[in-house]
Amino acid sequence: LAKEKGHNAVQFYTVEMSENMKKTMKLEKALRQAIDQEQFILYYQPQIDVKTQKMIGVEALIRWEHPTLGMVPPNEFIPLAEETGLITPITEWVLRTACRQSCKWQEEGIKPLRMGVNISPYLFKANLVNMVKQILDDTGLDPSYLELEITESIMQAAEITTPILNQLKSLGVRLSIDDFGTGYSSLAFLRYFPIESLKIDRSFIDEIEKDNGVIVKTIIDMATHLNLNVVAEGIETKEQLDFLSELDCDEGQGYLFSRPLPISQMDELLHKMN
Ligand code: C2E
Ligand code: MG
Ligand code: MG
Ligand code: MG
Repeated sequence: LAKEKGHNAVQFYTVEMSENMKKTMKLEKALRQAIDQEQFILYYQPQIDVKTQKMIGVEALIRWEHPTLGMVPPNEFIPLAEETGLITPITEWVLRTACRQSCKWQEEGIKPLRMGVNISPYLFKANLVNMVKQILDDTGLDPSYLELEITESIMQAAEITTPILNQLKSLGVRLSIDDFGTGYSSLAFLRYFPIESLKIDRSFIDEIEKDNGVIVKTIIDMATHLNLNVVAEGIETKEQLDFLSELDCDEGQGYLFSRPLPISQMDELLHKMN
């Protein structure tokens, strides 16, 4: 009986694995279609100057409007896009759309805002510099308004990534480190990398009440000494904001100010502000 049971367990496992594989393959096919059929949209989340409480930038965040599944969040398809290489055409679309939108706002007379775009570490294997240069040329966006958000993981291959970062820098764009504190960070590299700012990961903002903000305080101190701009991600409460404000944190982003907004609502907000 035991043997039979074991056998069944193995069979069950195999069936489940192939079910998972089928699901992944289906998702991959759908993702390819999404690119062709332009099913992606961008949401925009305000970034606020902590002192003046004014909006100084936005972060572009991708959403997939699937015809039957509805709105699919990035965490559910970016990993697969990275595995399959589809992240390259997706990023190209995101960059182009975000840069175009930024120009459009400026043409409409809105005070120029920084536009943050997330760049997966996988893009460092593709022709990232040319892609960015081409899109800046095509859209005519002043590069100083574009901020590329990269993650700490690229420091692991610093010999390869440093020259790419320097080339990006020489295009005139800004570079920031996203989710700071969650990954592999070499403090030595931080000092030599051509970056403008650190975005403190949301998990540390979340913990302020529990740990008296020691981690956040340490990161802000370090950033100040390295002359880096600091952005706190995921600010949800007034208490968190007050704490960060006292520590001289430069900027904040989070539900307290605004959730990521679809273009219609972002437009409305910007025109009201102006
Ligand atoms: P991220 O770059 O760290 O973006 C911030 C995420 O935190 C967003 O989730 C945002 O909606 C969420 N967030 C902002 N404020 C708050 C808050 O106060 N509380 C909470 N609980 N969450 C907050 P989202 O839009 O689901 O994106 C998740 C991740 O997916 C992003 O994290 C980024 O790593 C990735 N992603 C999004 N768009 C793109 C893209 O165009 N390209 C690439 N490669 N990755 C993207
Ligand atoms: Mg980001
Ligand atoms: Mg982040
Ligand atoms: Mg991230």
